[in-house]
Amino acid sequence: MKVMTVIGARPQFIKAAVVSRAFRNHRPDVQEVIVHTGQHYDANMSEVFFEELDIPKPDYNLGIGGGTHGQNTGRMLEKIEDLMISESPDWVLVYGDTDSTLAGALAASKLHIPVAHVEAGLRSFNRKMPEEINRVLTDHVSTLLFAPTSTAKQNLIREGVEEKKISLAGDVMYDATLFYKEMAKKPDSIDENFGNPEGFVLCTIHRAENTDHPARLEGILNGLARCAKPVILPLHPRTRAKISGFGLSFPENVTVIDPVGYLEMVWLEKNCAIVATDSGGVQKEAYFFQKPCVTLRDETEWVELVEAGWNRLVGADSLLIENSLRGFETPGSVFDLYGNGDSAFNVVSLVR
Ligand code: UDP
Repeated sequence: MKVMTVIGARPQFIKAAVVSRAFRNHRPDVQEVIVHTGQHYDANMSEVFFEELDIPKPDYNLGIGGGTHGQNTGRMLEKIEDLMISESPDWVLVYGDTDSTLAGALAASKLHIPVAHVEAGLRSFNRKMPEEINRVLTDHVSTLLFAPTSTAKQNLIREGVEEKKISLAGDVMYDATLFYKEMAKKPDSIDENFGNPEGFVLCTIHRAENTDHPARLEGILNGLARCAKPVILPLHPRTRAKISGFGLSFPENVTVIDPVGYLEMVWLEKNCAIVATDSGGVQKEAYFFQKPCVTLRDETEWVELVEAGWNRLVGADSLLIENSLRGFETPGSVFDLYGNGDSAFNVVSLVR
């Protein structure tokens, strides 16, 4: 059986790493063909993950990145369709909510190739987010929908997706954390004692809803400045460009570094005192490492983290950011909100 995996962005490499390994370990009957759309193309946003996480080299790299959403999705569709016709896969596997996800799902569904969507059913209920459009459309053309949480499953049922297509599979990012956490590596760019004794804030910012609005970026930077803790900020190239384009500057307590590989990121998550992020994946990883998370958004798809008391939604409000980063009480204990580490096995078992 042939499975074509379409990936293109950082979080998809991490998710695909564990699923691809599960195919190799548990499904000798499957030939996986990996298509990298090229959506993320900087070495530290792409290559490093293939090397560090032992992902097989992509069979195809389409080199499509850097355009607008419409340009990227359109160009991907055309090239992916050609590949699907020549490779004729039995299944197409897509992850998450990027333009690469939508292009893979749409091209496959028009060719009547069944689509399996890993991380189905997540909703922010904010249709201004490009990710929300990508998720909703992908879910509705998919044949097999792997929901990471029961909330995600309920979202799909509410939208009329047939229950028999949905599998509550757990979250493959939890599998990734379990597999790679002992391999965590300190980033070379920071000192072993960074942030001691009070600990440091680990911050990431990349969502368009923040990066495209100077007032929001300014609110976040002011909140970080006022929290009076050292902050480490591995910065997405787009955010860096926007901050300088808007004439904003980084506060003194913020150490900006280039994006790091996953093993370095895991080290930062393990060693920080608290996380501030607008990333989906990083919110969950904070929980996996039992770190409180201050979410720089107005809503989250991972509502169970807020309900559990580990995550606070603070938007771009500098006062709320400051207060939350000074520390907030968490319940102390964590539960298996995201499965028990066998999500990738669940995924590869059902793609038949
Ligand atoms: N990540 C990383 N290096 C970084 C920042 C993030 O390896 O410099 C990892 C992070 O640990 C998580 C994933 O990238 O596993 C999250 O990706 P991102 O925040 O780009 O996307 P989202 O999860 O919001 O879709």
